[in-house]
Formats: sequence, C-alpha cells, structure tokens
Amino acid sequence: MTVYLLGAGPGDPGLLTLRGAEVLADAEVVVYDRLSVGAVLDMAPATAERINVGKLPGQPRMSQEEINQLLVAYGRAGNKVVRLKGGDPLVFARGGEEAKALAVAGVDFEIIPGITSAFAAPAYAGIPVTLRHSSTSVTVITGHEAPLAPFSKSPSSNNTVNWEAAAQLGGTLVILMGVARWEAIAERLLVAGMSPHTPAAAVCWGTRPTQHTTRATLATLSEHHMEAPAVIVVGEVAAQELEWFATRPLFGKRVVVTRPVAQSAQLCDMLTKAGAEAVRVPLIEIAEASDGGASLKAAAKHLDNYDWIILTSANGARALLATTHDARDFGKAKVAAIGPATAEVLKVANIRPDLVPKEYVAEALLEALLTGAVSESTSESESASESESQNTKALIARAAIARDVLPEGLRTAGWEVDVVEAYRIKGVEVSDAARAEVANSDVITFASPSAVEQFVKAGLVALIGDAVGVACIGPITAAAAREHGLNVAIEAPEHTAKGLLEALEDYFSSSS
Ligand code: SAH
Repeated sequence: MTVYLLGAGPGDPGLLTLRGAEVLADAEVVVYDRLSVGAVLDMAPATAERINVGKLPGQPRMSQEEINQLLVAYGRAGNKVVRLKGGDPLVFARGGEEAKALAVAGVDFEIIPGITSAFAAPAYAGIPVTLRHSSTSVTVITGHEAPLAPFSKSPSSNNTVNWEAAAQLGGTLVILMGVARWEAIAERLLVAGMSPHTPAAAVCWGTRPTQHTTRATLATLSEHHMEAPAVIVVGEVAAQELEWFATRPLFGKRVVVTRPVAQSAQLCDMLTKAGAEAVRVPLIEIAEASDGGASLKAAAKHLDNYDWIILTSANGARALLATTHDARDFGKAKVAAIGPATAEVLKVANIRPDLVPKEYVAEALLEALLTGAVSESTSESESASESESQNTKALIARAAIARDVLPEGLRTAGWEVDVVEAYRIKGVEVSDAARAEVANSDVITFASPSAVEQFVKAGLVALIGDAVGVACIGPITAAAAREHGLNVAIEAPEHTAKGLLEALEDYFSSSS
C-alpha cells in the first residue's frame, strides 16, 4: 500500500489541502510529530493508529533513520500510512529523505504538498513576502546551519548558507528555524552590508490562535523575545502591517467546549473561525436510555396516536428518528421542536416542525403549545390553535433527567402526556491534561445543566480563578451554574451555538 507524505500546513486546519483531507480520512496509520495540530489529527478515523515520532518528554528523539524504517515497515505491511508533516513536506522537512528510503525499499509513496509556513505565517501576520517595487525576490533560508563568524574561511560542512550572498540579494529573506541562532545570523547580514534599519519581523506560531508577531529592524529584533517555531522575515516588506488575522474578535482566546464530542464540532468550528483556540474538554456524553431504548421503541410504533410529538433536544430528536422507519411513522401527529438545533436534526428526515418557540426553553415551548404562539420561521405553518381539544395527546421524548416544567404544565392544561426516556447523559472522566487545559483557559462554555454538574463533580471549579469567564448557552444552564457558585459572566441571548459565539464576541469586545 501507499505511504503518503502529506503537508498539513502551518497550523490552521483550514489550510490543509483537499487531497490531504481525503487521504487523512482514509488513513490506517498516522505518523506525526511535535508541530502537528489536534484538529488535523482528528480528521483521521478514530480507529487509525497514531504514532508520535516527535520529541516526547523523558525519551530520546527518534532518529530520521528510525522514522524512515518505521515508514518502510508499515508501508510494507500493507497499511495506508499518512506521514503528516508541518507546512510542506519537502521544505526543510526531510520529506525528500523519507521518499528516498521508500523508493529504495520499493514501497509506493505519494507526495502531497502543503502550504509552507515560510509564506503562510507572514501572510497571517499581514506581511506579503513580495511586493512590487520593494521586493522582487524572496529567498527561504534555514537558520539551522550553524553560522560561522563573519568572513571566517574555515571550511565546515555545516556552513552551507551563504549569508553574505543573501545580504546582497536586495529582496525578502524568509528564515526558518532561525530563533536560536538569530543573533549570529543578524550579525552576519549586517557585516555583509545590510542596513541595520532594514525592517525585520518574527511571526511565532503563525496561523494559530497563539500567533504572535514582533516587528523591529535587523539591528533590533534580537532585543525582543522570540519563541520557536517562528518565521523571521527580513526586508522592506516586514514593515507592512496588513493585519487581519490577529484582529478577529476572539483572537488568542482559549475557549473550553464542554459539550459531548459528537455535538461540539459546530461550536468549535465557529470559535476557530473567530480566531479562538477551541479546547475540547467534553464533560458529558450521550448514552442509550437506561432500558436500552425499549420504551422509546414502543412509543415510536404508535406515533400516529399522538396529536403532538415534542422534542426538547437534538439528542432526543436523533434518538427518536433512529427508532422510526421513515417520516411516514409520524402520521398526522404535529411536531414541536424546542429550538433550531432540534429542528435541524428533524429536517434531515424531511420533517419540518409545526412549532418552534421564540425562546428556546421549556417555558416558552409550553406557552407556545398552549397558546399557539410560534416563531416567525414557522409562522406559515398551521399553529397550535387555541381550539385544541382538552384531550390533546402528547409524547415527549427526552433525557432521563430533565425538568418537569413541560409535562406538568401540559397536564395542568388537561393534556394527556407520555414522557419517554430517549437517551441518558453520562459524566465523562476528566484527564489531567484536560484539567490543565481548563486551568489555562480564558472562558469555559456550558450548553446544559448536566455539563455544569459534571464540572462541579469533577472538582474543576477550584481550578478556575476570577480571570476565567463562565459562559452559558441559556438561562437554565446559567441558573445551574450560579447555583453551584459560578460567576456567570456571559449568557447567550439566543440559546444556540451561534448565540453563544455572539455573546462571547460581545464580552471580549467590551472587555478589551
Ligand atoms: N516543512 C515546514 C518547515 C519545517 S522546519 C514548512 O513548510 O512550514 C520547522 C520550522 O518551520 C520552524 O522552526 C519555523 O521556522 C517554521 N514553522 C513551522 N510552523 C510554523 C508556524 N506555525 N509559525 C511560524 N513558523 C513555523
């Protein structure tokens, strides 16, 4: 089988190529290293074997020869192997050596180019590597080769970069792996005649939420703290400040998402696009109902007996749909959904809810059911009319533990209500790494009271100081958080992932 030498880009998962995503989605083995990004690794199937060949604490780094042999061995064993590399696999990444080892061993390989940090990190910092009139060339150089003292004539196999020639080029110099030796590099460029006033910038952790850009000159850049990995740009273009990435509303914020993994993708994606680092710490997961789904199955056989099928969560809708054959099972029963996420799940089965309340909480759903007040989005459909008979029969499919506002309110109004457990919410163990992430975050987001409860139960409250904001998707979740002594700084006016994102943006725009 084939070994894919795949360039993952510099960090932002959106910079992975289409071919890269396609190959990853099918990988059986993924070999990755230190600069690989979690969100890209997550694109491989959960069942794929993941092998870290980067430096691990307390262990010697795997040699290039060992990595080559590993790729050959897995390739020979018939696996679909993805060798994930930061940026482009052939730009200072030893992809050439790996390809050579595979070729010699007769193992098929494919090279999938990636977006190199050499160009992408400056682009994300608002620095064009070429610019008409000020830069007619761009030279990408490794700073890893030990620079000798200026004009030293002593021969050395390490001294492969001709910095004097680079200093004469007049265009843009882009230096990778240059942080550790920057002082010596700058010195050589200066001695070779470059002006000390030449603009110079270092883009650290480019394209990531932790991106940090330092702008200075060739003479002064070394006075600043620089953290690897960084791309250093020297030349007139380094003075350009076409900022766009670092000005995103949530840029640099570390936002913890506590939703179940299966439901966190949308929020994480929105957070990432707003510039935040979405940190997944799932506190709860969705499990089968405690009776194995028997009562739901039984109820699903007779959906047509009900006037209303009421779904108070996307999970409930998903569980119910899984037990039905197709949309015809609903017969003439009307369908109520608590909010747009629940409606979205139904839509996949081509069921358009007859009712979605204006506010996505049980109280509003109850009122809408009883009075026929529906949201604008569904106003063209027939509303729950005031003339509903006293004997209205309703089925509520929901979590094992849920509030009773809705069934009790309906029963008080004379409705006949069957409540069935469609799923259960289970607490998830929180690893030490996840604890550290929580302690290190700017905001913790909660989308349900169960997540809040698990947060408290796992002893995480003690880890967060006053500087960490608590954000809740709606009033019920916020009330649960307050009950447990959390200081809720952010509450989404619209109780959806989008509403939560907007509330976070408002919060940070007013606090910065
Ligand atoms: N193949 C990679 C380069 C690997 S060498 C590519 O094409 O991007 C490693 C060097 O790349 C680092 O020392 C740093 O100079 C640069 N680098 C990689 N990712 C980076 C990032 N996100 N931001 C800034 N520099 C990065």
